[in-house]
Amino acid sequence: MKQILPFVCPKSWSDAESWKHALQQAMPTEHIVLFDELNQEDYLNCDVAIVANPDPKDLDKLPHLKWINSVWAGVEHMVANHPKVPIVRLIDPELSHTMAEAVLAWTLYLHRDMPYYAAQQKNHQWQPQTYIPAYEKTIAILGLGELGTASAQLLSAHGFRVSGWSHTLKTVPNVCCYTGDDGLQHMLADADIVISLLPLTPATTGLINDTIFAAFKANSSLINFSRGAIVHDLALRHALDSRHLKHAVLDVFQLEPLPADAWHWSHQHVTVLPHISAPTNPSTASKIVAQNIQAYRQNQVIPESVDLQKGY
Ligand code: NAP
Repeated sequence: MKQILPFVCPKSWSDAESWKHALQQAMPTEHIVLFDELNQEDYLNCDVAIVANPDPKDLDKLPHLKWINSVWAGVEHMVANHPKVPIVRLIDPELSHTMAEAVLAWTLYLHRDMPYYAAQQKNHQWQPQTYIPAYEKTIAILGLGELGTASAQLLSAHGFRVSGWSHTLKTVPNVCCYTGDDGLQHMLADADIVISLLPLTPATTGLINDTIFAAFKANSSLINFSRGAIVHDLALRHALDSRHLKHAVLDVFQLEPLPADAWHWSHQHVTVLPHISAPTNPSTASKIVAQNIQAYRQNQVIPESVDLQKGY
């Protein structure tokens, strides 16, 4: 008989059925069920759960869980809820590729002054800017993990000078790597575009504040593709209004969807995106989760999980 494998996600989430379908296709030997389809007896028979922003109360009803596999890369909500079992997060080369593509796309958007020319067109102005080649621009990436490293490599292949900052010092070909507070200050002083790909943790919450913006090179730009709360919102507004920061491309916000009255919508130096830089691909993600589950069923080894102390 197939083992029950619950998919735990918010109730009435419109994507739940399509995820269930993708997971079932990737795992024909498992019986994928939505949490609401489980009965009391099923609760006792679940040793693994696949999750997407689950309600912690739902997980509490599964007393024999050994670990959970998230289909998202960012797991800050789950970590904050003090999970009783290891959390395995999504690491999917397809996701890294999608994020790197977004990083290149929006870096080029800033590099080729698209916000400036869009504003000019509105005002019927014809004023070419001096072209500066990519090899004279430095792009700094905060976070050299799965997504940051893939993005750094694509930017470098495109001809940009690339630097990166991480908790532990990395070695990435063609990327100038930094760590620590001093390393961050050095890196920011040289960067034309700063891109956040950090996880949201106690250490990174509000990290990009007034002091850090002051360390940015004058007239540089910010791309935030990680989590809204990493950037101090008021500090961001000050940096933009004082024109120290040229432009901000924001895909993530402290409150999502971004409220209709938020200042970001109408700020002339902000580009608002609706959290679209790197959507998880259900098909490839399901295959990754399937490999994890299969390995666990065969040898009871739980895949590498999130470090709850560090929060990522
Ligand atoms: P990851 O592999 O865990 O990489 C995180 C990187 O950040 C690592 O290099 C880590 O350093 C570094 N880091 C963490 N805390 C730090 C600190 N306090 N100081 C300096 N460096 C620090 O994560 P990932 O898979 O690349 O994902 C990054 C984030 O992207 C996710 O957490 C999520 O929030 C976001 N995301 C956004 C979207 C979107 O559509 N907008 C989609 C997917 C993910 P070490 O390597 O030394 O540990």
